[in-house]
Amino acid sequence: MIKKSYLLTPGPTPIPESVLAASAQPFMHHRTPEFSEIYMAVTEGLKYIFQTDQDVYILASSGSGAMEAAVVNILSPGDKALILNCGKFGDRWIKICNAYGIAATAVNIAWGEIYTKEQLKEEMGRHSDIKAVFSTLSATSTGTVYDIQGYSEVVSQTETLLVVDAISGVGAMPCPMDEWELDVVISGSQKSFMTPPGLAYISFSKKAWESVERSRSPRFYFDARTARKSLQKKTSPWTPAISLVIQQMSSLDIMQTLGLEQLFEHHRILGTATRAGIQAMGLSLLSKNPGNSLTAVRTPAGIDGTHLVKTMQSKYQAYIAGSQAPHQGEFFRIGHLGYVGGFDIITALSALEMALADLCYTCERGSAIKAAEEILKENWQ
Ligand SMILES: *Cc1c(COP(=O)(O)O)cnc(C)c1O
Repeated sequence: MIKKSYLLTPGPTPIPESVLAASAQPFMHHRTPEFSEIYMAVTEGLKYIFQTDQDVYILASSGSGAMEAAVVNILSPGDKALILNCGKFGDRWIKICNAYGIAATAVNIAWGEIYTKEQLKEEMGRHSDIKAVFSTLSATSTGTVYDIQGYSEVVSQTETLLVVDAISGVGAMPCPMDEWELDVVISGSQKSFMTPPGLAYISFSKKAWESVERSRSPRFYFDARTARKSLQKKTSPWTPAISLVIQQMSSLDIMQTLGLEQLFEHHRILGTATRAGIQAMGLSLLSKNPGNSLTAVRTPAGIDGTHLVKTMQSKYQAYIAGSQAPHQGEFFRIGHLGYVGGFDIITALSALEMALADLCYTCERGSAIKAAEEILKENWQ
């Protein structure tokens, strides 16, 4: 058979053809009025998606660069931070804080479990002088969504800053930065933004900017003050990732034309259809509060999860994601984030049914497809 591949991971995500084509234009220099116009259009588009009046800065790095930028700009060595460690990316906050001499205390949340605002309030009560709470909107390693709005109710009352890794959430589910009074929000191009990897985004509240001015952490490339100065001149301090910025303008156009409400609704339908399909197969979800960016599914007993993901990739060219350390093989993840359509869910579920059949898992073939179709058909617009 002709091998056609399907990217069904929660990042990088598929790129619309028009966005791919947008970078195949005569190349331009970044210190020109033409590029400035594009750069500012992307900045405005990002502000729309982040739902903020603050500027959103475009960094030439993957999402982790924005995580590092958050830490070095608002904290100084010796400062105390509380990290809501909900998986692989919560753990990354700890590692970055450790690298910069921040006194990080971690709340270790079992993978897929929720963490309430009441728990946060209690935890905050046990510490004094916490300068920042680091959280994750959509934990990409588990498919769990966290109550960022609730955390903000606790944190915004205090001097503490709330930092949100919204990398796989913003653009797919509500996370209004200004309305929820979030202090630092970050994201990256390769998740809901339908753009190749390589750009990261960061925005600071007024409260966070006061900390940016005070921070004594070593920083140069990611110094937010430098970015702010350049943006006033409608440019970036360093050579921007020109082609990616052009591609991001193209996909922001799609996103803004659809509008945030429709984007959320789109992801809600895909998430609901995926979960319905999974449950119809007799499989169970990992997360206690599954989000609409991705679905994490427990590997059924007797099946090797790593082998399942490999089978889907090598035999069916359906690229889903496995589970990360220390939970390798225990579950797998299907992405439905960004440029993913209803029929991509059918593809994912069909490939999963066939791969599971190869590995001798018995369920009624077609049951997942049928359940997902019902949701898609009911909601198709
Ligand atoms: C993708 C992602 C990141 C960043 O990873 P990079 O590989 O550096 O882009 C961070 N946090 C979450 C929740 C993510 O989904």
